[in-house]
Amino acid sequence: MTEPSSAAVRVRFAPSPTGYLHIGGVRTALFNWLWARKKAGAFVLRIEDTDQERSTEASKQVILDSLKWLGLTWDEGPLFGGLGGGAHGPYLQMERLALYEKHADQLVAEGKAYRCTCTKEQLDAAREALKAKDPKANFRYPGTCRDAGHPKSSKHVVRFKVPTEGVVRYADLVFGEVVTPNAAQQDFVLLRSDGVPLYNFGAVVDDLTMGITLVARGRDHMVNTPPQIMLYEALGAQPPQFAHLPMMLAPSGEKLSKRHGAVSVGEYLDNGFSPTALLNYLVRFGWSFGDEEVFSLQDMIDKFDWARCNKSDGKFDAKKLAAINHEHLKQERLTPLETYVASVTPFLEKRGLDVVRDPRQRDLLRAAIPHVRERAKTYLEAAESLDFFLRDAPVFDEKATAKFLVAAAKPTLTEMADLVEGVADFTIEGLSAAFAKWLEAKGVQIKDVAQPARVALTGRSVSPGLYETIHVLGKARTVERLRAGAARIA
Ligand code: GLU
Repeated sequence: MTEPSSAAVRVRFAPSPTGYLHIGGVRTALFNWLWARKKAGAFVLRIEDTDQERSTEASKQVILDSLKWLGLTWDEGPLFGGLGGGAHGPYLQMERLALYEKHADQLVAEGKAYRCTCTKEQLDAAREALKAKDPKANFRYPGTCRDAGHPKSSKHVVRFKVPTEGVVRYADLVFGEVVTPNAAQQDFVLLRSDGVPLYNFGAVVDDLTMGITLVARGRDHMVNTPPQIMLYEALGAQPPQFAHLPMMLAPSGEKLSKRHGAVSVGEYLDNGFSPTALLNYLVRFGWSFGDEEVFSLQDMIDKFDWARCNKSDGKFDAKKLAAINHEHLKQERLTPLETYVASVTPFLEKRGLDVVRDPRQRDLLRAAIPHVRERAKTYLEAAESLDFFLRDAPVFDEKATAKFLVAAAKPTLTEMADLVEGVADFTIEGLSAAFAKWLEAKGVQIKDVAQPARVALTGRSVSPGLYETIHVLGKARTVERLRAGAARIA
Protein backbone atom coordinates (compact mmCIF):
# COMPACT_ATOMS: atom_id res chain seq x y z
CA MET A 1 0.00 0.00 0.00
CA THR A 2 1.20 3.45 -0.86
CA GLU A 3 0.75 5.95 1.94
CA PRO A 4 -1.82 8.57 0.99
CA SER A 5 -0.29 12.02 1.18
CA SER A 6 -1.80 15.48 0.90
CA ALA A 7 -0.76 15.43 -2.75
CA ALA A 8 -2.55 12.13 -3.38
CA VAL A 9 -4.29 11.95 -6.71
CA ARG A 10 -8.08 11.98 -6.46
CA VAL A 11 -10.05 11.66 -9.66
CA ARG A 12 -13.70 10.98 -10.29
CA PHE A 13 -16.27 9.73 -12.73
CA ALA A 14 -19.60 11.53 -12.45
CA PRO A 15 -22.24 9.92 -14.65
CA SER A 16 -25.85 11.00 -14.78
CA PRO A 17 -28.15 8.00 -14.26
CA THR A 18 -30.41 8.73 -17.21
CA GLY A 19 -29.93 5.61 -19.32
CA TYR A 20 -27.42 2.87 -20.02
CA LEU A 21 -23.66 3.31 -19.63
CA HIS A 22 -22.40 4.57 -23.00
CA ILE A 23 -18.98 3.31 -24.13
CA GLY A 24 -17.87 6.93 -24.60
CA GLY A 25 -18.52 7.42 -20.89
CA VAL A 26 -16.53 4.29 -20.17
CA ARG A 27 -13.53 5.78 -21.97
CA THR A 28 -13.72 8.78 -19.62
CA ALA A 29 -14.09 6.54 -16.57
CA LEU A 30 -11.16 4.43 -17.78
CA PHE A 31 -8.71 7.33 -18.14
CA ASN A 32 -9.55 8.51 -14.63
CA TRP A 33 -9.32 5.00 -13.23
CA LEU A 34 -5.96 4.34 -14.91
CA TRP A 35 -4.56 7.54 -13.46
CA ALA A 36 -5.80 6.66 -9.98
CA ARG A 37 -4.33 3.17 -10.19
CA LYS A 38 -1.05 4.39 -11.63
CA LYS A 39 -0.65 6.99 -8.91
CA ALA A 40 -2.06 4.84 -6.10
CA GLY A 41 -4.70 7.54 -5.76
CA ALA A 42 -8.45 7.33 -5.35
CA PHE A 43 -11.09 6.83 -8.03
CA VAL A 44 -14.33 8.37 -6.82
CA LEU A 45 -17.72 7.56 -8.32
CA ARG A 46 -20.36 10.24 -7.98
CA ILE A 47 -23.87 9.94 -9.31
CA GLU A 48 -25.17 13.21 -10.73
CA ASP A 49 -28.88 12.65 -10.34
CA THR A 50 -30.15 16.23 -10.22
CA ASP A 51 -32.15 15.82 -13.41
CA GLN A 52 -35.08 14.39 -11.51
CA GLU A 53 -37.21 13.83 -14.59
CA ARG A 54 -34.67 11.65 -16.35
CA SER A 55 -32.76 10.00 -13.50
CA THR A 56 -33.83 6.53 -12.46
CA GLU A 57 -32.77 4.01 -9.87
CA ALA A 58 -32.64 1.34 -12.59
CA SER A 59 -30.17 3.39 -14.60
CA LYS A 60 -28.01 3.91 -11.53
CA GLN A 61 -27.92 0.14 -11.00
CA VAL A 62 -26.96 -0.41 -14.64
CA ILE A 63 -24.06 2.04 -14.29
CA LEU A 64 -22.78 0.40 -11.11
CA ASP A 65 -23.19 -3.06 -12.58
CA SER A 66 -21.46 -2.13 -15.83
CA LEU A 67 -18.50 -0.48 -14.09
CA LYS A 68 -18.10 -3.49 -11.85
CA TRP A 69 -18.21 -5.88 -14.80
CA LEU A 70 -15.55 -3.78 -16.54
CA GLY A 71 -13.37 -3.96 -13.45
CA LEU A 72 -13.40 -0.16 -13.04
CA THR A 73 -13.66 -0.51 -9.29
CA TRP A 74 -14.30 2.64 -7.33
CA ASP A 75 -12.56 3.40 -4.05
CA GLU A 76 -15.27 5.79 -2.94
CA GLY A 77 -18.83 6.06 -4.08
CA PRO A 78 -22.20 4.37 -3.76
CA LEU A 79 -22.17 1.06 -1.91
CA PHE A 80 -22.46 -1.80 -4.37
CA GLY A 81 -21.21 -5.37 -4.36
CA GLY A 82 -18.50 -4.74 -1.79
CA LEU A 83 -17.38 -1.46 -3.35
CA GLY A 84 -17.91 2.13 -2.35
CA GLY A 85 -18.40 4.00 0.87
CA GLY A 86 -15.84 6.62 1.85
CA ALA A 87 -15.35 9.71 3.92
CA HIS A 88 -16.67 12.22 1.39
CA GLY A 89 -20.19 10.90 0.93
CA PRO A 90 -23.00 10.82 0.27
CA TYR A 91 -22.08 10.16 -3.36
CA LEU A 92 -25.49 10.94 -4.85
CA GLN A 93 -26.03 14.61 -5.57
CA MET A 94 -29.67 14.59 -4.46
CA GLU A 95 -28.42 13.58 -1.00
CA ARG A 96 -26.06 16.55 -0.86
CA LEU A 97 -28.55 19.43 -1.19
CA ALA A 98 -27.67 20.89 2.22
CA LEU A 99 -24.08 21.23 1.12
CA TYR A 100 -25.01 23.18 -2.01
CA GLU A 101 -27.24 25.47 0.03
CA LYS A 102 -24.43 26.14 2.49
CA HIS A 103 -22.01 27.08 -0.28
CA ALA A 104 -24.61 29.22 -2.04
CA ASP A 105 -25.34 31.05 1.23
CA GLN A 106 -21.65 31.69 1.66
CA LEU A 107 -21.35 33.19 -1.82
CA VAL A 108 -24.44 35.37 -1.27
CA ALA A 109 -23.15 36.54 2.11
CA GLU A 110 -19.85 37.52 0.50
CA GLY A 111 -21.63 39.40 -2.30
CA LYS A 112 -20.42 36.93 -4.95
CA ALA A 113 -23.86 35.57 -5.73
CA TYR A 114 -27.38 36.88 -5.30
CA ARG A 115 -30.96 35.76 -5.04
CA CYS A 116 -32.97 36.40 -8.18
CA THR A 117 -36.75 36.52 -8.19
CA CYS A 118 -37.26 37.07 -11.91
CA THR A 119 -39.93 34.70 -13.16
CA LYS A 120 -39.65 32.57 -16.25
CA GLU A 121 -42.42 34.72 -17.82
CA GLN A 122 -40.44 37.91 -17.21
CA LEU A 123 -37.28 36.44 -18.67
CA ASP A 124 -39.15 35.01 -21.68
CA ALA A 125 -40.71 38.41 -22.33
CA ALA A 126 -37.33 40.13 -22.13
CA ARG A 127 -35.88 37.54 -24.52
CA GLU A 128 -38.73 38.07 -26.99
CA ALA A 129 -38.32 41.82 -26.84
CA LEU A 130 -34.61 41.50 -27.60
CA LYS A 131 -35.24 39.11 -30.50
CA ALA A 132 -37.81 41.53 -31.93
CA LYS A 133 -35.13 44.21 -32.03
CA ASP A 134 -32.30 42.01 -33.23
CA PRO A 135 -33.08 38.42 -34.26
CA LYS A 136 -29.41 37.46 -34.07
CA ALA A 137 -28.80 38.78 -30.56
CA ASN A 138 -27.90 36.39 -27.76
CA PHE A 139 -30.09 36.90 -24.73
CA ARG A 140 -28.24 37.25 -21.46
CA TYR A 141 -29.70 37.68 -18.04
CA PRO A 142 -29.87 41.49 -17.71
CA GLY A 143 -28.80 41.54 -14.06
CA THR A 144 -32.15 42.82 -12.77
CA CYS A 145 -31.69 41.34 -9.27
CA ARG A 146 -27.91 41.77 -9.02
CA ASP A 147 -28.08 44.41 -6.33
CA ALA A 148 -31.64 43.90 -5.06
CA GLY A 149 -30.60 42.07 -1.89
CA HIS A 150 -33.61 39.70 -1.89
CA PRO A 151 -33.96 37.82 1.39
CA LYS A 152 -33.76 34.05 1.63
CA SER A 153 -37.43 33.58 2.37
CA SER A 154 -38.62 34.73 -1.03
CA LYS A 155 -39.05 32.34 -3.95
CA HIS A 156 -35.81 32.72 -5.80
CA VAL A 157 -32.97 31.12 -7.63
CA VAL A 158 -29.37 31.91 -6.75
CA ARG A 159 -27.26 33.45 -9.48
CA PHE A 160 -23.53 33.89 -9.65
CA LYS A 161 -22.26 37.43 -9.97
CA VAL A 162 -19.93 36.90 -12.90
CA PRO A 163 -16.95 39.27 -12.82
CA THR A 164 -17.44 41.82 -15.58
CA GLU A 165 -13.74 42.05 -16.35
CA GLY A 166 -10.76 39.77 -16.61
CA VAL A 167 -10.28 36.32 -18.03
CA VAL A 168 -10.28 32.72 -16.94
CA ARG A 169 -7.04 31.01 -17.81
CA TYR A 170 -6.12 27.40 -17.28
CA ALA A 171 -3.64 24.88 -18.60
CA ASP A 172 -5.55 21.91 -19.94
CA LEU A 173 -3.44 18.75 -19.72
CA VAL A 174 -4.54 17.79 -23.23
CA PHE A 175 -5.58 21.00 -24.98
CA GLY A 176 -2.95 23.31 -23.54
CA GLU A 177 -3.63 26.87 -22.41
CA VAL A 178 -7.23 27.99 -22.59
CA VAL A 179 -8.18 31.64 -22.05
CA THR A 180 -11.77 32.89 -21.94
CA PRO A 181 -12.95 36.45 -21.18
CA ASN A 182 -15.24 36.61 -18.15
CA ALA A 183 -17.52 38.90 -20.08
CA ALA A 184 -18.47 35.93 -22.26
CA GLN A 185 -20.50 34.57 -19.33
CA GLN A 186 -23.83 35.72 -18.04
CA ASP A 187 -24.85 35.60 -14.39
CA PHE A 188 -25.60 31.89 -14.44
CA VAL A 189 -27.88 30.08 -12.01
CA LEU A 190 -26.27 28.10 -9.19
CA LEU A 191 -29.33 26.86 -7.34
CA ARG A 192 -32.89 26.50 -8.51
CA SER A 193 -35.77 27.65 -6.33
CA ASP A 194 -36.28 24.08 -5.11
CA GLY A 195 -32.69 23.94 -3.85
CA VAL A 196 -31.42 21.64 -6.59
CA PRO A 197 -28.09 22.83 -8.02
CA LEU A 198 -27.41 23.32 -11.69
CA TYR A 199 -24.65 21.17 -13.11
CA ASN A 200 -21.74 23.64 -12.82
CA PHE A 201 -22.40 24.49 -9.21
CA GLY A 202 -23.13 20.93 -8.12
CA ALA A 203 -19.99 19.67 -9.83
CA VAL A 204 -17.77 22.37 -8.30
CA VAL A 205 -19.11 21.99 -4.77
CA ASP A 206 -18.69 18.24 -5.03
CA ASP A 207 -15.27 18.24 -6.66
CA LEU A 208 -14.14 20.72 -4.01
CA THR A 209 -15.59 18.94 -0.99
CA MET A 210 -14.51 15.55 -2.32
CA GLY A 211 -10.94 16.79 -2.67
CA ILE A 212 -10.73 16.07 -6.39
CA THR A 213 -7.28 16.99 -7.73
CA LEU A 214 -7.84 16.40 -11.44
CA VAL A 215 -11.00 16.50 -13.54
CA ALA A 216 -10.83 14.49 -16.75
CA ARG A 217 -13.93 14.44 -18.93
CA GLY A 218 -15.11 14.72 -22.51
CA ARG A 219 -14.21 17.88 -24.38
CA ASP A 220 -17.95 18.53 -24.74
CA HIS A 221 -17.61 19.88 -21.18
CA MET A 222 -14.94 22.45 -22.06
CA VAL A 223 -17.57 25.20 -22.13
CA ASN A 224 -18.27 24.46 -18.49
CA THR A 225 -14.71 24.76 -17.29
CA PRO A 226 -14.38 28.59 -17.24
CA PRO A 227 -17.54 29.12 -15.14
CA GLN A 228 -16.42 26.29 -12.88
CA ILE A 229 -13.02 27.90 -12.37
CA MET A 230 -14.74 31.20 -11.52
CA LEU A 231 -16.68 29.34 -8.85
CA TYR A 232 -13.54 27.84 -7.32
CA GLU A 233 -12.03 31.29 -7.16
CA ALA A 234 -15.18 32.75 -5.59
CA LEU A 235 -15.15 29.96 -3.01
CA GLY A 236 -11.54 30.79 -2.20
CA ALA A 237 -10.29 27.45 -3.47
CA GLN A 238 -7.59 26.27 -5.84
CA PRO A 239 -9.22 24.69 -8.93
CA PRO A 240 -8.22 21.12 -9.76
CA GLN A 241 -6.27 20.32 -12.91
CA PHE A 242 -8.34 19.74 -16.02
CA ALA A 243 -7.88 17.28 -18.86
CA HIS A 244 -10.44 17.30 -21.66
CA LEU A 245 -10.65 14.27 -23.85
CA PRO A 246 -11.57 14.04 -27.52
CA MET A 247 -14.90 12.60 -28.56
CA MET A 248 -15.80 9.20 -29.81
CA LEU A 249 -17.74 9.57 -33.03
CA ALA A 250 -19.71 7.35 -35.36
CA PRO A 251 -18.00 6.38 -38.65
CA SER A 252 -20.11 9.07 -40.33
CA GLY A 253 -18.67 11.72 -38.00
CA GLU A 254 -21.91 12.16 -36.07
CA LYS A 255 -22.23 11.69 -32.34
CA LEU A 256 -22.03 7.96 -31.63
CA SER A 257 -25.45 6.60 -30.75
CA LYS A 258 -27.53 3.42 -30.75
CA ARG A 259 -28.15 3.82 -34.47
CA HIS A 260 -24.49 3.00 -35.12
CA GLY A 261 -24.48 -0.36 -33.37
CA ALA A 262 -23.89 -1.43 -29.81
CA VAL A 263 -22.97 1.54 -27.61
CA SER A 264 -24.07 0.34 -24.19
CA VAL A 265 -21.75 -1.72 -22.04
CA GLY A 266 -24.57 -4.17 -21.37
CA GLU A 267 -24.74 -5.18 -25.02
CA TYR A 268 -21.06 -6.11 -25.03
CA LEU A 269 -21.50 -8.14 -21.88
CA ASP A 270 -24.48 -9.96 -23.41
CA ASN A 271 -22.61 -10.59 -26.64
CA GLY A 272 -19.71 -12.27 -24.86
CA PHE A 273 -17.00 -9.61 -25.04
CA SER A 274 -14.08 -9.50 -22.66
CA PRO A 275 -14.30 -6.45 -20.40
CA THR A 276 -10.55 -5.92 -20.62
CA ALA A 277 -10.66 -6.09 -24.41
CA LEU A 278 -13.37 -3.45 -24.42
CA LEU A 279 -11.19 -1.24 -22.21
CA ASN A 280 -8.19 -1.95 -24.46
CA TYR A 281 -10.21 -0.78 -27.44
CA LEU A 282 -11.40 2.34 -25.63
CA VAL A 283 -8.01 3.36 -24.29
CA ARG A 284 -6.99 4.29 -27.83
CA PHE A 285 -9.60 7.03 -28.00
CA GLY A 286 -7.48 10.01 -27.09
CA TRP A 287 -4.35 8.14 -26.04
CA SER A 288 -1.68 6.22 -27.86
CA PHE A 289 1.56 4.46 -27.10
CA GLY A 290 3.53 4.32 -30.33
CA ASP A 291 1.55 2.11 -32.67
CA GLU A 292 0.74 -0.49 -30.01
CA GLU A 293 -2.82 -1.71 -30.16
CA VAL A 294 -2.97 -4.60 -27.70
CA PHE A 295 -2.68 -3.90 -23.98
CA SER A 296 -3.37 -5.86 -20.85
CA LEU A 297 -4.91 -3.94 -17.99
CA GLN A 298 -1.51 -3.74 -16.31
CA ASP A 299 0.10 -2.47 -19.56
CA MET A 300 -2.48 0.29 -19.65
CA ILE A 301 -1.81 1.28 -16.05
CA ASP A 302 1.94 1.23 -16.60
CA LYS A 303 1.91 3.15 -19.86
CA PHE A 304 -0.91 5.65 -19.44
CA ASP A 305 -0.17 9.31 -18.94
CA TRP A 306 -1.67 12.65 -19.95
CA ALA A 307 1.33 13.61 -22.05
CA ARG A 308 0.44 10.86 -24.54
CA CYS A 309 -3.16 11.99 -24.80
CA ASN A 310 -4.19 13.77 -27.95
CA LYS A 311 -6.92 16.12 -29.11
CA SER A 312 -8.20 14.29 -32.16
CA ASP A 313 -11.67 12.84 -32.07
CA GLY A 314 -11.82 9.18 -33.03
CA LYS A 315 -14.29 7.11 -34.98
CA PHE A 316 -15.84 4.02 -33.52
CA ASP A 317 -14.83 0.91 -35.46
CA ALA A 318 -16.81 -2.19 -34.54
CA LYS A 319 -14.52 -4.44 -36.62
CA LYS A 320 -11.43 -3.30 -34.80
CA LEU A 321 -13.13 -3.82 -31.47
CA ALA A 322 -14.05 -7.37 -32.52
CA ALA A 323 -10.44 -8.01 -33.58
CA ILE A 324 -9.06 -6.73 -30.27
CA ASN A 325 -11.57 -8.86 -28.44
CA HIS A 326 -10.49 -11.93 -30.40
CA GLU A 327 -6.86 -11.20 -29.57
CA HIS A 328 -7.68 -10.99 -25.87
CA LEU A 329 -9.56 -14.26 -25.94
CA LYS A 330 -6.72 -16.01 -27.78
CA GLN A 331 -3.87 -15.01 -25.51
CA GLU A 332 -3.40 -16.59 -22.12
CA ARG A 333 -1.37 -13.51 -21.15
CA LEU A 334 -4.39 -11.28 -21.72
CA THR A 335 -7.05 -13.73 -20.56
CA PRO A 336 -5.69 -16.28 -18.08
CA LEU A 337 -7.42 -19.65 -18.09
CA GLU A 338 -9.32 -19.03 -14.86
CA THR A 339 -10.62 -15.70 -16.18
CA TYR A 340 -11.72 -17.48 -19.33
CA VAL A 341 -13.50 -20.15 -17.30
CA ALA A 342 -15.32 -17.56 -15.19
CA SER A 343 -16.28 -15.47 -18.22
CA VAL A 344 -17.55 -18.29 -20.41
CA THR A 345 -19.48 -19.96 -17.59
CA PRO A 346 -22.62 -17.78 -17.77
CA PHE A 347 -22.86 -18.50 -21.50
CA LEU A 348 -22.55 -22.24 -20.90
CA GLU A 349 -25.19 -22.03 -18.21
CA LYS A 350 -27.51 -20.32 -20.67
CA ARG A 351 -27.13 -23.44 -22.80
CA GLY A 352 -28.22 -25.54 -19.85
CA LEU A 353 -24.70 -26.79 -19.09
CA ASP A 354 -23.72 -27.00 -15.45
CA VAL A 355 -20.05 -26.33 -14.97
CA VAL A 356 -20.29 -24.74 -11.55
CA ARG A 357 -21.55 -27.54 -9.33
CA ASP A 358 -19.90 -30.46 -11.09
CA PRO A 359 -16.10 -30.46 -10.60
CA ARG A 360 -15.61 -33.08 -13.35
CA GLN A 361 -17.30 -30.82 -15.86
CA ARG A 362 -15.16 -27.95 -14.69
CA ASP A 363 -11.99 -29.97 -15.27
CA LEU A 364 -13.23 -30.90 -18.71
CA LEU A 365 -13.91 -27.23 -19.41
CA ARG A 366 -10.39 -26.25 -18.33
CA ALA A 367 -8.91 -28.92 -20.57
CA ALA A 368 -11.07 -27.92 -23.54
CA ILE A 369 -10.57 -24.14 -23.49
CA PRO A 370 -7.01 -24.16 -24.88
CA HIS A 371 -8.37 -25.95 -27.96
CA VAL A 372 -11.13 -23.46 -28.74
CA ARG A 373 -9.55 -20.18 -27.75
CA GLU A 374 -7.70 -19.70 -31.02
CA ARG A 375 -10.94 -19.59 -32.99
CA ALA A 376 -13.62 -18.21 -30.68
CA LYS A 377 -14.07 -14.48 -31.21
CA THR A 378 -16.38 -14.03 -28.22
CA TYR A 379 -17.35 -15.99 -25.12
CA LEU A 380 -20.67 -16.56 -26.82
CA GLU A 381 -18.89 -18.34 -29.67
CA ALA A 382 -16.63 -20.13 -27.22
CA ALA A 383 -19.65 -21.53 -25.36
CA GLU A 384 -20.98 -22.84 -28.63
CA SER A 385 -17.63 -24.47 -29.48
CA LEU A 386 -17.33 -25.98 -26.01
CA ASP A 387 -20.86 -27.31 -25.91
CA PHE A 388 -20.19 -30.85 -27.17
CA PHE A 389 -17.39 -31.44 -24.67
CA LEU A 390 -19.78 -30.87 -21.81
CA ARG A 391 -22.88 -32.81 -22.83
CA ASP A 392 -23.57 -36.49 -22.28
CA ALA A 393 -24.08 -36.76 -26.01
CA PRO A 394 -23.39 -34.10 -28.63
CA VAL A 395 -26.19 -32.24 -30.36
CA PHE A 396 -26.06 -33.47 -33.95
CA ASP A 397 -26.03 -31.04 -36.83
CA GLU A 398 -28.39 -32.43 -39.46
CA LYS A 399 -26.32 -31.62 -42.51
CA ALA A 400 -23.11 -32.97 -41.01
CA THR A 401 -24.87 -36.14 -39.92
CA ALA A 402 -26.43 -36.72 -43.35
CA LYS A 403 -23.14 -36.11 -45.10
CA PHE A 404 -20.73 -38.09 -42.93
CA LEU A 405 -22.59 -40.65 -40.82
CA VAL A 406 -23.17 -42.90 -43.85
CA ALA A 407 -23.03 -46.68 -44.33
CA ALA A 408 -19.36 -46.75 -45.35
CA ALA A 409 -18.41 -45.05 -42.08
CA LYS A 410 -20.08 -47.58 -39.82
CA PRO A 411 -17.26 -50.18 -39.70
CA THR A 412 -14.61 -47.44 -39.51
CA LEU A 413 -16.22 -45.91 -36.43
CA THR A 414 -16.44 -49.30 -34.73
CA GLU A 415 -12.81 -50.09 -35.54
CA MET A 416 -11.80 -46.68 -34.28
CA ALA A 417 -13.65 -47.29 -31.03
CA ASP A 418 -11.78 -50.57 -30.59
CA LEU A 419 -8.51 -48.83 -31.38
CA VAL A 420 -9.07 -46.03 -28.86
CA GLU A 421 -10.14 -48.53 -26.23
CA GLY A 422 -6.75 -50.21 -26.58
CA VAL A 423 -4.54 -47.09 -26.47
CA ALA A 424 -2.38 -47.31 -23.36
CA ASP A 425 -0.53 -44.00 -23.73
CA PHE A 426 -3.56 -41.68 -23.72
CA THR A 427 -1.66 -38.51 -24.66
CA ILE A 428 -1.98 -36.58 -27.90
CA GLU A 429 1.33 -38.14 -29.05
CA GLY A 430 0.24 -41.61 -27.97
CA LEU A 431 -3.07 -41.24 -29.79
CA SER A 432 -1.47 -39.95 -32.91
CA ALA A 433 1.06 -42.84 -32.95
CA ALA A 434 -1.70 -45.44 -32.45
CA PHE A 435 -3.79 -43.87 -35.21
CA ALA A 436 -0.79 -43.72 -37.57
CA LYS A 437 -0.20 -47.45 -37.17
CA TRP A 438 -3.86 -48.27 -37.71
CA LEU A 439 -4.17 -46.00 -40.76
CA GLU A 440 -1.10 -47.53 -42.32
CA ALA A 441 -2.45 -51.03 -41.83
CA LYS A 442 -5.75 -49.96 -43.41
CA GLY A 443 -3.97 -48.18 -46.24
CA VAL A 444 -5.97 -44.93 -45.74
CA GLN A 445 -5.21 -41.41 -44.66
CA ILE A 446 -6.60 -39.58 -41.64
CA LYS A 447 -8.58 -37.22 -43.85
CA ASP A 448 -10.50 -40.20 -45.23
CA VAL A 449 -11.81 -41.17 -41.81
CA ALA A 450 -11.66 -38.00 -39.72
CA GLN A 451 -14.97 -36.43 -40.67
CA PRO A 452 -17.28 -39.30 -39.60
CA ALA A 453 -15.33 -39.54 -36.34
CA ARG A 454 -15.59 -35.80 -35.84
CA VAL A 455 -19.35 -35.87 -36.35
CA ALA A 456 -19.74 -38.84 -34.00
CA LEU A 457 -17.67 -37.12 -31.32
CA THR A 458 -18.82 -33.52 -31.66
CA GLY A 459 -22.05 -33.58 -33.67
CA ARG A 460 -20.52 -31.17 -36.19
CA SER A 461 -18.15 -31.00 -39.08
CA VAL A 462 -15.94 -28.28 -37.56
CA SER A 463 -14.18 -28.78 -34.23
CA PRO A 464 -10.74 -28.70 -32.66
CA GLY A 465 -8.25 -31.32 -33.95
CA LEU A 466 -9.34 -34.92 -33.71
CA TYR A 467 -6.63 -36.10 -31.33
CA GLU A 468 -7.03 -33.04 -29.13
CA THR A 469 -10.76 -33.64 -29.00
CA ILE A 470 -10.32 -37.31 -28.13
CA HIS A 471 -7.72 -36.43 -25.54
CA VAL A 472 -9.98 -33.91 -23.79
CA LEU A 473 -13.07 -36.13 -23.97
CA GLY A 474 -11.14 -39.03 -22.46
CA LYS A 475 -11.24 -42.68 -23.35
CA ALA A 476 -14.65 -43.67 -22.00
CA ARG A 477 -16.57 -40.78 -23.58
CA THR A 478 -14.75 -41.14 -26.88
CA VAL A 479 -15.41 -44.84 -27.18
CA GLU A 480 -19.04 -44.37 -26.18
CA ARG A 481 -19.55 -41.61 -28.76
CA LEU A 482 -17.83 -43.49 -31.57
CA ARG A 483 -20.03 -46.55 -30.90
CA ALA A 484 -23.13 -44.41 -30.62
CA GLY A 485 -22.17 -42.77 -33.93
CA ALA A 486 -21.89 -46.17 -35.59
CA ALA A 487 -25.22 -47.18 -34.11
CA ARG A 488 -26.91 -44.11 -35.62
CA ILE A 489 -26.06 -45.43 -39.05
CA ALA A 490 -28.79 -47.76 -40.31
N1 GLU B 1 -22.75 14.38 -15.10
C1 GLU B 1 -21.90 14.93 -16.09
C2 GLU B 1 -21.99 14.07 -17.34
O1 GLU B 1 -22.41 12.93 -17.25
C3 GLU B 1 -20.48 14.96 -15.56
C4 GLU B 1 -19.56 15.85 -16.27
C5 GLU B 1 -18.25 16.01 -15.54
O2 GLU B 1 -17.49 15.03 -15.54
O3 GLU B 1 -18.00 17.07 -14.96
O4 GLU B 1 -21.70 14.51 -18.42
